[in-house]
Amino acid sequence: MITKETIDRIFETVRIEDVVGDFVQLKKRGVNYLGLCPFHNEKTPSFNVNPVRNIYKCFGCGKGGNAVNFIMELEHYTYPEALKFLAKKYSIEIEESVPDPKEIELRDERESLYILNSFASKTFAENLFDNEEGKAIGLSYFHERGFSDETIRKFELGYSLADWSAFSEHAIKNGYKSEFIIKTGLGYPRQKDGEVITGNEKLIDRFRGRVMFPIHNLSGRIIAFGGRILKKDDKAAKYVNSPESDIYFKSKSLYGIFFAKKAIVQKDN
Ligand code: ZN
Repeated sequence: MITKETIDRIFETVRIEDVVGDFVQLKKRGVNYLGLCPFHNEKTPSFNVNPVRNIYKCFGCGKGGNAVNFIMELEHYTYPEALKFLAKKYSIEIEESVPDPKEIELRDERESLYILNSFASKTFAENLFDNEEGKAIGLSYFHERGFSDETIRKFELGYSLADWSAFSEHAIKNGYKSEFIIKTGLGYPRQKDGEVITGNEKLIDRFRGRVMFPIHNLSGRIIAFGGRILKKDDKAAKYVNSPESDIYFKSKSLYGIFFAKKAIVQKDN
């Protein structure tokens, strides 16, 4: 558990107008700031930020709270995840006491999904740049479409090998649990006559022979993937996306928003 001292420091340090201002274009209105609400659709700003009380309030949808509530709502973060996000923003060192087991479980579970996605993204990028199949099929495709290596690396693009279980096996070999491979949707269990085969049977990779596009949340962590197949295959869908998970909510995610958000806020457009 994050210590009370650390939590107090975070609350003393955060400025609501800074935190919101990273995501919403704010204009000064008297002592307050006003902007378009990120939680509901509106054309006339009714999203109010009060620097004196260090809180926000939307008079359109009624959402309101402090900086931690704002990050929790925006990123679907848990309370400790939001605290860590803000601590990082303000370079506050986190002190933790021995956490209670329930919290560890929840945190570790979601954290495991993020970590596995990050491992997957690195694996797919290695396939793209260092593997013969990846170079021949994936990298040549991106170059053909006019993507520079710089763009490819910035967006962390990659390639998933055409094997049935290449990624799952690689992940398990590197100590990742099959439970999380299934929960992220990177793989799924083999089935026979409609029955899921459990145990140490091989998992099947969801993404096979595809160029890979990681989907980032607003703070840049990978929450899911989209994959495009390049070989002609009438049985396979041209595009496959990760299923929803504890960290990926399709209707609340937009591809590329992490890279675009700064410009969106700056240009207020
Ligand atoms: Zn609102």
